[in-house]
Amino acid sequence: MQYSIATVCIAGTFESKVKAIAEAGFTHLELFENDWVTYSGSPRQARQMLDDFGLNISVFQPFRDFECLPEPLRSNALDRAERKFDLMGELGSDLLMICSSVHPQCLGGINRAADDLGELAERAEKRGIRIAFEALSWSPTLWDYRDAWEAVRRADHPALGLCLDTFHIFSRGCDLGQIRNIPGEKIFLVQVADAPNLQMDPLSWSRHHRCFPGQGQLDLSGFMDNLNNTGFDGPFSLEVFNDQFRSGHAQPTAADGYRSLVYLAGQQENKADLKPAHAPGAVEFIEFAASEQEQVQISSILTGLGFAKTGVHKSKRVERWQQGKINLVINQEPESHAQQYHSQHGLSVCAYGLTQSEPEHVLARAAQLAYPESRGNPVKDTHGLGALTGPAGALLYLVNPEDANTHWEREFVEQTDRPAAYLDRVDHVAMSVDFEESLAASLFYRSALNLEATPSVNVLDPSGLVRSQVYENSDKSLCFTLNSTQASNTSQARIRENYAGSGVNHIAFSTTDIFATAEYLAAHGVSTMTVPTNYYDDLDARFLLGASEVGRLSQWNILYDEDEQGPFYQLYTHMLGGRFCFEIVQRNGYRGYGMANSQLRLTMQARELGLA
Ligand code: MG
Ligand code: MG
Repeated sequence: MQYSIATVCIAGTFESKVKAIAEAGFTHLELFENDWVTYSGSPRQARQMLDDFGLNISVFQPFRDFECLPEPLRSNALDRAERKFDLMGELGSDLLMICSSVHPQCLGGINRAADDLGELAERAEKRGIRIAFEALSWSPTLWDYRDAWEAVRRADHPALGLCLDTFHIFSRGCDLGQIRNIPGEKIFLVQVADAPNLQMDPLSWSRHHRCFPGQGQLDLSGFMDNLNNTGFDGPFSLEVFNDQFRSGHAQPTAADGYRSLVYLAGQQENKADLKPAHAPGAVEFIEFAASEQEQVQISSILTGLGFAKTGVHKSKRVERWQQGKINLVINQEPESHAQQYHSQHGLSVCAYGLTQSEPEHVLARAAQLAYPESRGNPVKDTHGLGALTGPAGALLYLVNPEDANTHWEREFVEQTDRPAAYLDRVDHVAMSVDFEESLAASLFYRSALNLEATPSVNVLDPSGLVRSQVYENSDKSLCFTLNSTQASNTSQARIRENYAGSGVNHIAFSTTDIFATAEYLAAHGVSTMTVPTNYYDDLDARFLLGASEVGRLSQWNILYDEDEQGPFYQLYTHMLGGRFCFEIVQRNGYRGYGMANSQLRLTMQARELGLA
């Protein structure tokens, strides 16, 4: 398939877009008319620039409000098209996309549309140009791809074909099943966009919320199944209007665009271009980058949480702390990846180890998606583990669980300290990420790591809305949640300021007895975030837990939620360095992450940061 991207998808001027699109690996672009109109060069100069970057124009678009007009508007529209054909000839473009009319005087009617399109195709053919007709989802007269196909079929002209646009199809809930009945050679163009499921008029939804495959919730796999049955082999092009992309950086957006097409096309079973890889199984370790002073700070709280220093690295200033199945690493080694990360972000999580029984498969798949492998510092890092660079620039090492113990034993000298036995495993890691980064992170988690995304939800911080989304593997043994916001005075925004970038918001450990754990924490000098009494009054009213249970929760600042599977308990330590805190959770069958308590958590974090 010929991968292409509409110039409208990314930020910048025509020249900078062309450069970014070529650098991302595309050989074709859709020239969006506005980018042409605002360009100050001649068609010849544009053609030269495209040649220099090795780019072809897959389609020139959009041509609007053409079909079903009364005279003299109909003749005017045909004249207007001839002018575009002139320009396309100079630009070396041979496909024009027409979207169905929203003209107030559009008369509608399949036969009328077929006649008009047939005449246009006749004129286009004489100029060596073809026409792709698209059903625009907010056209009052023709908004269903099946009607567009019927008009094309009735016109029966070799220079006239169909444009299928995934957004228009899904936003009107059109059945996908009839796509497979369209002959592939009559589909001249496929435009691909994903989008979150929103209850919104199609025009606003389209103009602001389209995103790349792997960033939204549309059933693009279902679309691809049907498309593959048609034998389609034409331009496969991204057409995305997205507020984040328009204000973001062109190059990474274009790069994400390219990998999103590789991801979408490559995961189809009959293509299987993309190497299959299972999602990682669990967090094997979390690595902190710390200064000497921060090491003291973090060791103190880890000790209070029942962790023990169980190993020191044989040659580096690196410690291993353990409890249950949790491994934490504190890295102070000079000139390491950790210290380089620390110089940019201060106290932070600079790396994770994720268990994966076939790390090489994940790395190979990631390479196909243009996520390069990183091996940290080639001199300092002797462990030989392959890694990918994840959100916030932290490394995600892939550890074969069968080799994990060998790695620890080979690299670390065992210490005699023994941990407590309250905390068992890493339940989830919550991140505060830059708003612009959140869509890129979504694509990474889903395409490279094969994690599943749940729909995003908006949570209230005292100073603005925070968007929160969960990425997890199928048995929920690995979960990252992403918090992002555009509001500048929220706790999330402050945390990102403190990190000078994205970073960890909290790390949640699981326990089987949160009350005993809370008691242990109190006895060992770890205080927890204070939960307001009003919260417990409300809790009692909502869940009918009884005064003594609510009293016990309140005594230990424990939050509560439940679903049909069972109850859920949470508590939070104070924040470290204005960056992150630890959460302790107990889940008795409960499947979620305490979304009902998110506003309270954000408010408590805002208070700790002096924002509320
Ligand atoms: Mg379109
Ligand atoms: Mg949490």
